Amino acid sequence: MNQIEIKTLIADKPLVENLIKLQPSCWFNPNTTTLAIGLPYVGLDQTDIKKASERLKRFAPYLSLAFPETAITKGFIESQLVEITNMKKALEARYNVDIAGKLYLKKDSHLPISGSIKARGGIYEVLTHAEKLAIENGLLSEQDDYSKLYSDKFKQFFSQYSIAVGSTGNLGLSIGIMSAKLGFKVSVHMSADAREWKKQKLRDHGVNVVEYEQDYGVAVQQGRKAAESDPKCFFIDDENSTTLFLGYSVAGERLKQQFNEQGIKVDKDHPLFVYLPCGVGGGPGGVAFGLKMAFGDNVHCIFAEPTHSPCMLLGVYTGLHDKISVQDIGIDNITAADGLAVGRASGFVGRAMERLLDGYYTLSDQEMYDLLVLLDKTEHIQLEPSALAGMQGPVVVTNNSEYLERMQFTPQQLQNATHLVWATGGGMVPKEEMQKYLNSGKI
Ligand SMILES: *Cc1c(COP(=O)(O)O)cnc(C)c1O
Repeated sequence: MNQIEIKTLIADKPLVENLIKLQPSCWFNPNTTTLAIGLPYVGLDQTDIKKASERLKRFAPYLSLAFPETAITKGFIESQLVEITNMKKALEARYNVDIAGKLYLKKDSHLPISGSIKARGGIYEVLTHAEKLAIENGLLSEQDDYSKLYSDKFKQFFSQYSIAVGSTGNLGLSIGIMSAKLGFKVSVHMSADAREWKKQKLRDHGVNVVEYEQDYGVAVQQGRKAAESDPKCFFIDDENSTTLFLGYSVAGERLKQQFNEQGIKVDKDHPLFVYLPCGVGGGPGGVAFGLKMAFGDNVHCIFAEPTHSPCMLLGVYTGLHDKISVQDIGIDNITAADGLAVGRASGFVGRAMERLLDGYYTLSDQEMYDLLVLLDKTEHIQLEPSALAGMQGPVVVTNNSEYLERMQFTPQQLQNATHLVWATGGGMVPKEEMQKYLNSGKI
């Protein structure tokens, strides 16, 4: 975009100017609607989630053998839900607000196998592909005990095929580890933001790591290109994949079950607010879809992005979706939150989910570092910077009287609310790296 085009855009969409100035911003979409009205636009429904859930169930016996750390959950990849009361107090003091309701953390940061939210979608898509190949070739049927996949015979079979993906790090980690374990040849195309230890971990698993000096968009594009020339290569398309999206969406029913176990109510009088860090959008979009299907209009999803990479806010707010990137308006897409370093949002997710998402906000890298230290101090939980993006959410919502009034929340309902911060990564960060993160906080 040239300066005149940017000016024209700002005249119509004034918040774009704040984004360009890298000011922490928030936007609560006035066009958000009910599930009944918004669902048809998603193009997927409960049946699709059920199929994904059943597929994961079929693979559970395999996963508990292939990754012994999943044996305690019987081969299900699921994370803990914990209340963080000390952190809530710390947030109230830091931002000088009273947050009505309770504050919880969903620790996808500590999911087995790859230590991030990508252990949902990424692994699910690899399993889906493996199942399809094995069934097509007469080696497997859905009624089989899938532990048979944990064998040299299957490894040999999958080794004829390859898988490719572009990533800022965590998606590569989950797809690389899962694919290599099954026996696939796998190439991960890593953007410049990807941390060195993630690349090393992949190489240790026998994954081919291709490095780029450019950002995520270029890594994806190059990965796609490399895969096109090889008919036995399957490209996992983070920007458009409904399979990835559905893998994430299973989180909704799982959370509902955890809420039931812990006696946490969600209904009209007990609203649930969920804060999700957003990169390209597949992870938070898929989780939000699953949450909407599980809790209906009583769950309110809010996306969080770095001030340097506000691609989803920009895409949905302007209505341009993947037709605009943060670079188009002069933003550099350089952030310490490497999981969120995406300049152009998924057009699929933005268009599918915009009516079902309540709001979006941005925060600075320093804010994420500070929150990282605060969570470590108050709760002794360590996350990577991206995973702290959602932590400011309860404050953003509490301070937004326009939104609260428009939604007609009563003080009693807010008092009964559950705020859930989705912690998306950090469980596998090496000690020395974590120490660097902790040293970057200024509190
Ligand atoms: C990938 C990632 C996200 C966001 O997921 P997208 O699908 O890219 O939107 C958030 N946090 C972490 C740690 C991630 O790795």
